[in-house]
Amino acid sequence: MDESIARKLLVDTGRELLETGLVARTWGNVSCRLDEYNFVITPSGLDYTRTEEEDIVKMNLASGEWQGIHKPSGERGVHIAAYQVFPEVNFVIHTHQTYASALGLAGFQYLDIRKEEKEALGGIMLADYGLPGTKKLTNAVKEALQTGVKVVLMSNHGVLICGGTKEETMSKAILLEEICKRNIKGSFEVTQKTKANDAEALLSAVRKKFQYAALVQTPATIVCANRGVSIDAQLDDMAQMIGRKISVVSGEVANIIHAIEKVNAILVPGIGAVVRAESEDDMIALGLLIDKAAVCSIHSAASNVKARISVTHATLMKLVYQMKYSKQKS
Ligand SMILES: [Zn+2]
Repeated sequence: MDESIARKLLVDTGRELLETGLVARTWGNVSCRLDEYNFVITPSGLDYTRTEEEDIVKMNLASGEWQGIHKPSGERGVHIAAYQVFPEVNFVIHTHQTYASALGLAGFQYLDIRKEEKEALGGIMLADYGLPGTKKLTNAVKEALQTGVKVVLMSNHGVLICGGTKEETMSKAILLEEICKRNIKGSFEVTQKTKANDAEALLSAVRKKFQYAALVQTPATIVCANRGVSIDAQLDDMAQMIGRKISVVSGEVANIIHAIEKVNAILVPGIGAVVRAESEDDMIALGLLIDKAAVCSIHSAASNVKARISVTHATLMKLVYQMKYSKQKS
């Protein structure tokens, strides 16, 4: 494929992924094969709304050498694996989409999927866990691809989708999310109504102290908050941005404000979640992450699975994320 067309395809796909909600913030990445030896990939840590054609990175499949004004995505290893395993694959999408990530934690072995859906995806398999950007993760995904499947659920992380064209790969990502959504277990029904007055009072009190604070009142977060049990990090992106758990805090407003000074997300029974960040973008990203974490928590609890990320891994990922992020901001 022509390089300038491929670059534009990646820019467009990044925005489409944001619009469909399959990708949030800078998470997830997209690549396109140019020829037998080269491919182009989205850069590391750049928001899709701000990514332009010149930001796309060109890479050599065999040597891993790259050319561009940014570093290639930290998850380039799994893209390379896909092109190496399948000569017919020309487009690869990696996302942290909610329902597929949840099914990667629990219930994959009982997945209710029709034969034609499986064929449309090109086969699906669950790969073992590896920390983001590591050889271990690349190898685990490669092993799954070598069995011939084009969709790989990456344990505690997300999903890799391979296709012949951009359109085919995008429609697989959307189909996968539909299949996984109907396989989600647990109840998302809010039985106890939240009090609008309390929520408003709490938010205005928190915003006096923190400019970028918000309430997250999705069904999953409200159900989790009312359950009164903290949410453990089961996915890498929550471990990176929030930490190894989201605690439940109740009682007086002062209590809640005190708690949110130390962490960026808490659950409040009767309300949902409270998040605070240093920018509007981060605040929105936290809201999406906490909702996904809540969906995963409800689904895995209903499936009787813990699927927690280890304390060591969670601590390590948060540190690496903070270092990377402070570097990007400076
Ligand atoms: Zn990822």
